[in-house]
Amino acid sequence: MNNLTNSVRVIPIECKFGPISAFAYYIDAPEPAIIDTGVNVSVAQDIEPTLAKHGIRIEDIRWILLTHGHVDHLGGAYALWEKTGRQAKVVIPKKEARLVSDKNEHIVDYKALQGKYIIDREIQEKHITMLTTDIGGSIEPNLEVVDGDSINLGGDITVKVIETPGHSIGSVTFVLNGLDWAFAADAVQMYGGASGLPTIENPCDYRKSVQRLIEEVRPKRLFLGHPFRNIDGEMQSAQIEGEQVQVVLQASLDMDAKLREVVEQFFTEEPVSKQHELYGPFWPIASEIGYSGDPRNLPCAFFVTMNGYREELIGSHINREEETLNDSKEV
Ligand SMILES: [Zn+2]
Repeated sequence: MNNLTNSVRVIPIECKFGPISAFAYYIDAPEPAIIDTGVNVSVAQDIEPTLAKHGIRIEDIRWILLTHGHVDHLGGAYALWEKTGRQAKVVIPKKEARLVSDKNEHIVDYKALQGKYIIDREIQEKHITMLTTDIGGSIEPNLEVVDGDSINLGGDITVKVIETPGHSIGSVTFVLNGLDWAFAADAVQMYGGASGLPTIENPCDYRKSVQRLIEEVRPKRLFLGHPFRNIDGEMQSAQIEGEQVQVVLQASLDMDAKLREVVEQFFTEEPVSKQHELYGPFWPIASEIGYSGDPRNLPCAFFVTMNGYREELIGSHINREEETLNDSKEV
């Protein structure tokens, strides 16, 4: 064990906007870093004042590390980058780099996913306005990272990149080497955040990512992007350590198993033809899991997640059919 242990100061910064909050994390290093940035207003409202309280100048930040491309994590990147006189290097997963270099890509993604289920034009337009105003501007990233990459923050402080997709296509976890502190942001969702459901774009990837954290990364501390709920629906701290790390990771797998089971139950029986005005084709599932939230509230966790589980189910059916076809050919 080197002398790095317990020598890195991490400052969680809660960025509040509307009814929710997202965490940014300051890492004290020779080249100071911020992991995630909240939305555009978060920089002046939360990040700068919190750092100032600790005697840290925002302009000294040298690295902006983005765990994924969602607005509530990268929306503040531009304003923060400006505050550093454009000196800070911007790092984002390769698979989501387009989301920091062109903010219009957020509208493309919205229309391809949430927009499929939000019929009301006015709400669609409101969402698009929110998405674009929450992002300060577009930046060409300095570094597009993939699994296994390392970033040296000066001295012996190094951050390793672990790909943990599922919540989004390209989400990564940054792990502080030597300490095994994992900044997983939204890759781990327990029973969901403010919306009452986890937001999972690709359940199969999500499951593998959480399993990889449990088996391979085995974090001593876990730093999440939001407070998430436990099995009783109670909001938990976004900073977790000790035995709780395992509890939180297992809870995320348990919720995944539950969602998978319920979706399978409803989509393998009769195709759902009736559409509910609020829950669309997924209304029987909403009642089964006791979800009574408004699925139209961004990030529309209900629709994103249901869409993901349904696609997984359809995919596994197609695979089964192909297997059957191949079997019959062999006969
Ligand atoms: Zn996210």
